[in-house]
Parts: sequence; C-alpha cells; structure tokens
Amino acid sequence: MTDPDHAFRAGIAFIDGEYVPIADARIPLLDLGFLRSDACLDTISVWKGLFFRLDDHLARFELSYARLRMTCPYSRDQLQTIAMECVRRTGLRDAYLQLIMTRGRIPIGSRDIRLAQNRFQAFCIPYFWIANADLRARGLALHVSAIRRVPAKLDDPTIKYYHWLDFEMGLLEAHDRGADSVLLTDLDGSVTEGPGFNVFAVREGELLTPESGVLDGMTRTTVLELARELNLRARLARLAPANLHGAGEVFICSTAGGIMPVRKVDAATIGDGAPGPTTRRLEQLYWRKRESRWLGTPIDGH
Ligand code: PLP
Repeated sequence: MTDPDHAFRAGIAFIDGEYVPIADARIPLLDLGFLRSDACLDTISVWKGLFFRLDDHLARFELSYARLRMTCPYSRDQLQTIAMECVRRTGLRDAYLQLIMTRGRIPIGSRDIRLAQNRFQAFCIPYFWIANADLRARGLALHVSAIRRVPAKLDDPTIKYYHWLDFEMGLLEAHDRGADSVLLTDLDGSVTEGPGFNVFAVREGELLTPESGVLDGMTRTTVLELARELNLRARLARLAPANLHGAGEVFICSTAGGIMPVRKVDAATIGDGAPGPTTRRLEQLYWRKRESRWLGTPIDGH
C-alpha cells in the first residue's frame, strides 16, 4: 500500500514495531541512546526509486552495532523489509533513510548496561543535501578547526555514531568565520573529516583522501571506484591542512549529496575558485551511474 492520504509524505519513522508519521516519532527519555549517546546508525540514500549499495550499508550497520556489543532484534532480511516499507509508505522516490540502534533502557537504579534491551528504530525523510543547489554550483567554503576530532584510539571512527560535539562546536566556529562547514584535525594536526562527509584533495592529477581517523564512508569508497573507472590515480594519505590549501581541487562526499565541490579552505581559494574539472567529472559520473541503476536495489512496489 502506498500512502493515499500522504500522512507519511513528510517522512515516516519505524519505532517499537510501528510506522508513525515523522512528526510523531519519539524515543523514551531514559533510552541510553539519548542519555549517553550510546547508539549507532547508518544512512542510506534512495534516488529515483533505488537504494544505493543497500547490502553494503546493512553490512556496515551490523559492524557498527556488533562493535558496540548490541544485539539487533531484527535479521538483515527483516531490516531490508523495514527499510523498503519505510520508503514505500512515504511514496518518496528520492529519500534519506536512517537505521538506528540504541542501547535501550536499564531498570531505574541500575547501572548494569547488560540489562538493557537494545532497540532498533528507523526513519525516512525526503532526500537531503549537505550543500544546497547554490553551494553545489559555487562550491563550499570550509574552515579547518583547531578543535580535534575525538581521537580514533578513544572512539573508533569506523563505527557510525552520534556523539558529534566535536563536529557541532567546529560547525559553530566555522559559521562564526563565515564558512559553510568544517573539517576537524586529529591530534597530530592531520585533516580527518567533517560533519557527515569525507574529504578529497586533487593534487597534480592525483586524488588524496585521509587514510585514518575517519569513517569508511560509502561515498568515499564509491569515489575511489569511480576514479579507477576514469583512470585517475587515487590513494589514501595523511593530509596536512596546507595540502588542502595548496590543492588544485577539493571536494567533499557523503550519502547526503554525493560529491560536492569546495571553493575555499580557510583563507585559501582552491584552484581558480570555481568547481574543478575532476570534481565535476566524478560528480557527473556518480549521478549518471546511479540513474542507470548502478549498485541499486529497487523499492518494491514502486
Ligand atoms: N564521516 C562522517 C563522520 C559521517 O557521519 C559520514 C556520513 O554521515 C561520512 C563521513 C560520509 O559517509 P557516507 O559516504 O557513508 O555517507
């Protein structure tokens, strides 16, 4: 059944086994996912009625919650069915779907998190871009903050988690300086990633992306695959902020927006200040392939 009344057009959530309009979605206050940020997630995009890399996202989600020693109440097949159902009920063709595991509640008075019943919830909203159409046309201005990304030795950044205070404080700092978003560095001063995206520099025809301290972004993997297809050299490397300042091109990549050009990093104008040719080629190939069903899984019933 699609959604004849459009009750779910603005979005839907799957909570406690039920589908509810996104505006009504609530999680219990005492869920440690809220109280302690003890949660993980994965975000999957749907474009023209097709999930992108659905199996890869489900596998990464499983890896995230397994590393947090959580147990999901649903099998991978059931998760896929719920994901499909969320999108189907909204009727959206271009959508942003988030799967979430939270630690759940423990009995009041207890500190024994082994007693928590881990909870699964999901939501689906219209497709979301980190950069709006104007910024995608012009390129973003990024600020490299002195705020450090939580060190990888403390919190494994390959677990897709929510505790984003480093990013949120960095974002506020970036906005104070008139930038559109932020990149954080690690304790050694190397560039890591930004709130919801990985970063690439193009230097002398070669694509470079931070080798450690980052989420193994699905779009980052996709960019490396597209680079091979375009016969572009690409490798993981340590990147100092100066390597970005002096790059011919810089772009960010995310499930929320694909490949998006950067025009400025701090005070440095990147290239001639307009999105560069390599970024544009990758961006066009990314969307062309997605529209030709590459790594796509159709939403049942669409
Ligand atoms: N880095 C962080 C911290 C993220 O949260 C995300 C996505 O939300 C990314 C990178 C990009 O990953 P993906 O391409 O899988 O969306």
